[in-house]
Amino acid sequence: MGIFSVKSAWEGIRKAAPAVSWASLVWNKDLPSRLSTLAWCWAHGKLPADDKIQKKQIYLPSRSDLCGSSEESFNHLFLDCRYSSEMWDRAAVMLNVVWTNQPTVVDVIKWWKNKVRGWSLKRPWMIGLVVIIEAIWKERNGRCYEGKASCPSLVVNTAIKDVSFIYNGMKISPSSATDLVLAKRLLLSICPSSALSTLEVYWCKAPRPWVKLNVDGCSLGNPGRVGGGGIFGDHNGKMIFLFGFFMGIATNFQAEI
Ligand SMILES: [Zn+2]
Repeated sequence: MGIFSVKSAWEGIRKAAPAVSWASLVWNKDLPSRLSTLAWCWAHGKLPADDKIQKKQIYLPSRSDLCGSSEESFNHLFLDCRYSSEMWDRAAVMLNVVWTNQPTVVDVIKWWKNKVRGWSLKRPWMIGLVVIIEAIWKERNGRCYEGKASCPSLVVNTAIKDVSFIYNGMKISPSSATDLVLAKRLLLSICPSSALSTLEVYWCKAPRPWVKLNVDGCSLGNPGRVGGGGIFGDHNGKMIFLFGFFMGIATNFQAEI
């Protein structure tokens, strides 16, 4: 005997299927239900792009409204189109990562999840994926049915505001400098944590008549390919001279010094 609930009854009669990789993304409780539904359709490849409609024996001429240079298929619209690729690129910049084209929607989800591994500010980043999907779909529909067109940078900026809107009023406490940068890029309200707060460091122009030199080095792997560079800027912040060089294979410590 136990306590009856609708959930327990449902669990008793249903046949549970194995969890899918996108379940936590789609059924995220931070997402408004309309976005969960859209993400669910997207994960199943069910948004009615031209190729999906043609499969229902409805023959129509097809052209990508986003780039105008190819037929529209679901994969083209979300994965291959140069317009969508630019949107993914711009979104990836938020995390200081480089977008690489993915062959399937499942690969996009995997890529998105992997990039945030080890970071504490995962929730807004994961929501951002669904918001970008919606932005691509809305832009396509706006062009197709209303003759409205926006450039990728404007659409991504609107999507970022949508993420900010979803988290409006929620307390985001960055626990690292990386989190702080991401929170600011996603326009989230930042609450200082009760523990040691993260210090934001600003870059300032050199006072007149000084010149400022910023230098850095880094390695791709540790040890790995190491490079360094620097930039001279005047009191207006304008670049005067810059340099960069490759230092071979070394450790990240060697790159820094
Ligand atoms: Zn296209």
